[in-house]
Formats: sequence, structure tokens, C-alpha cells
Amino acid sequence: MLLTEDQQALRDVARRFSREKLLPRHQARDKESIIERSFLREMGSLGLIGVDLPEEYGGLGASSLTAGLIIEELAYGDFSVSYVQLLGSLMGSIIARNANPELASEWVSKIIAGEAIMGLGLTEPRGGSDAANLLLKARREGDEYVLNGEKSSISFSDQADAMVVFARTGKPEDGARGVSAFLVPLTLPGVQRTRSSDVASHIVGRGSVFFDDVRIPADHRLGDEGKGFTQVMQGFDFSRALIALQCVAAAQASLDETWEYVKEREAFGAPLAQYQGVTFPLVECEALIAATRQLCYHALELRDAGQPHTAEAAMVKWMGPKTAFDTIHQCLLTFGHYGWSTDLPHQQRLREVMGLEIGDGTAQVMKLIVARERVGRIAVQYLQEKK
Ligand SMILES: Cc1cc2nc3c(=O)[nH]c(=O)nc-3n(C[C@H](O)[C@H](O)[C@H](O)COP(=O)(O)OP(=O)(O)OC[C@H]3O[C@@H](n4cnc5c(N)ncnc54)[C@H](O)[C@@H]3O)c2cc1C
Repeated sequence: MLLTEDQQALRDVARRFSREKLLPRHQARDKESIIERSFLREMGSLGLIGVDLPEEYGGLGASSLTAGLIIEELAYGDFSVSYVQLLGSLMGSIIARNANPELASEWVSKIIAGEAIMGLGLTEPRGGSDAANLLLKARREGDEYVLNGEKSSISFSDQADAMVVFARTGKPEDGARGVSAFLVPLTLPGVQRTRSSDVASHIVGRGSVFFDDVRIPADHRLGDEGKGFTQVMQGFDFSRALIALQCVAAAQASLDETWEYVKEREAFGAPLAQYQGVTFPLVECEALIAATRQLCYHALELRDAGQPHTAEAAMVKWMGPKTAFDTIHQCLLTFGHYGWSTDLPHQQRLREVMGLEIGDGTAQVMKLIVARERVGRIAVQYLQEKK
């Protein structure tokens, strides 16, 4: 794929920042529990958050593909930091498309500048795969909505400044049609938050956000009432390709380090790189990672061209984290006993990419989406009949 001059220039800025500022401290940073705000603002000032967001809000109005190139560079240096770009592009585009102009202007410009973290509030304790089957209630009272319920497994649960919350405005039996989306500042009275003890990505953190009679102005609704799923969730094909690129990048970092290692490390009187039993598995990983990356780019190019890309996005959301996990696993093994140490980064990257085998939808859910794209609703009919 040939990049434009603008894409190359922006990617170079991201690469420099990632290799100089992110990579050297990414293991130390994982021992911290919050992402430094000054760091966010620095990324914002370099134009590295939400590059695809509209210029009128301070973005660059770049393509989805460009957003993918940037997130890939940053995830190479620190997978967890690149959650900022993921949520920035996803939540920023949802808000820019669906919020009223004043609300969009306030929050999208803060996201781009690195002054606000916007969470995504979809999952609830009863389950995330059946996302439309949610219970958090939004009751209309005059010019306000009153929110009651719990969102669980929310990234940045205790650090986000605001959250796009999917809530039920209709009856439970209405399924996806009774769901609306709201932009909710998390400083409002009645909001409480927790954090779980996670396997990885500690600077992001994850937990529950509770809403107890939280009142928000009615103009904080995004899109039409009851259209939260059909209108607002369109952004998720975008985030799936971005997530896959995060994972591809983490795997590429481990692969690059492993190639260097096998040139130096000797066994049986020769560098490991002379043994095809060592190099062939790495070559297979290189090929699978390269193929996955290209399918991500293809999905993003389809999005930029306004073409359907739901199947491609779901394919890479399944393949990206899985291929990355298998690749990093192979890299860890190639380092022998050194690989089995927390001094080396492979175990951290393994845990990080595994998180996104679950987050934003599991492999099974992605395969259901691809099957539905191929044969239509018959692929998911038994799920509806069970309800
Ligand atoms: C790192 C991380 C970050 C996250 N960040 C966010 C966030 O910011 N905001 C947010 O809203 N959510 C977030 N989540 C939640 C995530 O989206 C959900 O965990 C995910 O959608 C799966 O839902 P669940 O955990 O309830 O699993 P369940 O829905 O309970 O599923 C459990 C298992 O059953 C399988 N399964 C379910 N239904 C079927 C079926 N019909 N056929 C076959 N298999 C099936 C699933 O694949 C899974 O393996 C995050 C999760 C993680 C791990």
C-alpha cells in the first residue's frame, strides 16, 4: 500500500514519539495505575489523538486508514497507551456524528487535545455478547433523562471524564430498538465507580460505573430516541479494525526483538538464526501478521470509500488478537528461559493482546457477525428464538 506524503509525515511523528517516549518505559509504565494527563496533552499537541476527527473541532480530518496507521505506531511502543487513540477516534466520531453542535464542539475538541478521556458504556453485569439486551434505564422527565443502573467492564472506569452510555428508553422486549445513547459527564451527582484487579493494561484500568438517579439534560442524547443501536453503533466496525492493528503492532514489536535475538544467541556452536526450526515459525508469524495488517487496511479503506466493511472488520477483530497472541507466544518461547521472565516484555504483551480477544466482542461474536453478513439473519435466528 502506498502512503500519501501527509500520511507518511504523520506516521513519522507517531513513530518517533512511540520509539522515543513509549517503548523505553512501557514495562515500567504498566506498574502505574493511571495514565498521566500531561502525557495525554503532549500526544494531543502532536496531533496524535483522533486524527480522523473533523477539523472544525481541532482534528485533522484525516482518513480512517490514517487513524489506523497512527494507532499501529503507538501500540508498537505501548499497547495500553494506544487505548487513548482507540477511544478517541471511536467515541469522538460517534459524538461528532450524533451530538448537537455545541455538545460535539465541547467534547470532541477536548478529546483531540488530550484534555478528556471518553469512556464507552455498553456492557452490563448480565453480559456483553448480547449487547442489545441491556437494562440500564433512562427515564424521561421534562427536559431531562434520569439514569439508573450499572455499566460493567468499562475501560478507564475510574479515569474517564465522560462516557457514552447506552441505556434503555423503551421496553425490555423491544430489544435493540428500545436503546438510546447519551453523553454523560461522570462528575454528575449519583455516579460511582470501581476498578477491578486486571490481568493487564493497568494504566487503563477497568471496572463498573453505577448510576443512581443521575440527571442529564435531554440534549445530551446522541441520535434519535430508541435508535442508539442502529445509528450510534455504526462506529464499531471502525474500532474493530483499529483494535486489530493495536494487536498486530504489539506482535510486530515482539517479532522485531526476536529476530535481533536469534542473530546473537548461540546454541550448538552457531547462532539460533541458522536453525530453520527457529526461523520458520517466526517467518510464519511474519506472514500471518502481514496478512492480518493488510486486511485491516482494506477494511479501513472500504470505510473511507463509504463501502460496506462489517464482515472485514469482524474478521480482523477475531484474527488480529488471536494471531498476535500466537506470535508473541512464539517469540516468548524463542527467548528460552529469558522469555519466562517479567524482565522481558513478551509476557506483558501476551496479556495485553489477550484482553482484546474479549474486549469489544469475542471471537465467537465476530464469527456470528461474519456468518450473518454472508447468509443473513438466519445465522443468528436461533439466538432471537431463545428469548
Ligand atoms: C480488556 C477489556 C476492555 C473492555 N472495555 C470495555 C469498555 O470500555 N466498554 C464496554 O462496554 N465493555 C468493555 N469490555 C467488555 C467486553 O466488551 C465484553 O466482555 C465482551 O463483549 C463479552 O461479554 P461478556 O464478558 O459479558 O461475556 P459473555 O457475553 O458472558 O460471553 C461469555 C462467553 O460465551 C461466549 N458466547 C456468548 N454468546 C455466544 C453465542 N451465541 N455463541 C457462541 N459463544 C457465545 C462468548 O464468546 C464468551 O466466550 C471490555 C472487556 C475487556 C476484557
